[in-house]
Amino acid sequence: MESLRYLYKIGPGPSSSHTIGPKRISEVFLNEFHNAYSYKVDLFGSLALTGKGHLTDYIIEKTFKNRRLKINFIYEFKEEHPNTMDLYAYDKDGNVIGYRRAFSIGGGDFSFSHLDNNEQRKKIYPHQSMDKIIKYLKDNKISLSDYVYYYDSDIKEYLHIILDKMFDSIERGLKSSGKLPGTLNLERVASKIYHHALEVDDESERDKLLISAYAYAVNEENACAGEIVTAPTCGSSGVVPSLLYHFYKKFKTPKVKLVDALAVAGIIGNLVKRNATISGAEGGCQAEVGTACSMASSMVSYLFNLDIDKIEYAAEVAMEHHLGLTCDPVKGYVQIPCIERNAVAALRAYDAALFAKHIGNYRKNRVSFDQVIETMAATGKDLSYHYKETSLGGLAKHVKDK
Ligand code: SF4
Repeated sequence: MESLRYLYKIGPGPSSSHTIGPKRISEVFLNEFHNAYSYKVDLFGSLALTGKGHLTDYIIEKTFKNRRLKINFIYEFKEEHPNTMDLYAYDKDGNVIGYRRAFSIGGGDFSFSHLDNNEQRKKIYPHQSMDKIIKYLKDNKISLSDYVYYYDSDIKEYLHIILDKMFDSIERGLKSSGKLPGTLNLERVASKIYHHALEVDDESERDKLLISAYAYAVNEENACAGEIVTAPTCGSSGVVPSLLYHFYKKFKTPKVKLVDALAVAGIIGNLVKRNATISGAEGGCQAEVGTACSMASSMVSYLFNLDIDKIEYAAEVAMEHHLGLTCDPVKGYVQIPCIERNAVAALRAYDAALFAKHIGNYRKNRVSFDQVIETMAATGKDLSYHYKETSLGGLAKHVKDK
């Protein structure tokens, strides 16, 4: 598996595969063919179908700055990947002087068809499954965060930056008001939920509302193309930060411990990325919000000081109950169901950690985390493309304007 740097990325919302990925692909292409007279970008499949709502054309135009550029939305799917982009560079006479086919593979990551995966990214973690990692931790009597710092040796400083960026996005979101972009006409409500929560007497209800407010804050920032951290994607960027912020505010958990928790969550996200997918276009929302929920529940379990078996238990429970979850953003905006879904997943992640802490004492989970990832990957393949970031099915089809 790769460094956690390639999982947690800082960038503009609203969709890592539709904004951060295409932005980075465009940057690499421009770097390679910077002297061209003009350019063309063809967006295929999911990039075309939800590209407008996900601001794909906006971010590509912004990256190409004032260069001559034409963008085409082509609704057919290419066999290699549902998020395919073809980029062309032309000379003054209209001759093609550069061409690349690229894939935005989820979480802002990308690959080029002319490079194989080994050329594209260094693998630094030697274990590719949770079972093998757990065995290694037990054999060597180390924690999961120690494992990360051993193999991803300079990651700690980067995770501190990531934590601060996550908190920035919450604090910006809690201070903002007004309408979200697009035609859904949705108000930003994170600040309202937050202030309402502070008035609620019941501590448990208040905590749930606060966690929800933090998740809404990040995802409303994301919907406004604000800067967020992929965890593991833009669409699912509110789940992990909301719980970290909750521990920071309520329990005064020090940042060094929260960074360790981010490392733990990162391994869970990396395993899903390596063995299944974190892309809504490939696996539906189970791959995005389901993964975020697994990451967050492992992180909360770590903050509860649970052992590695219970961390695995929590991560598995969190994914198991997202299996089959479809991606169906209404009108292609990463707003409905996405914003609320992050808040629901944050609460579910907390509950999954509570299950691990308490119910885990009576019975070990029968389904392993590796098995649930395998199941998620297979379920994602079976899902119709209507439910994989195309806005052709589900809520996107059935929710009509009032
Ligand atoms: S429904 Fe889920 S996977 Fe689809 S855009 Fe929203 S958050 Fe991402």
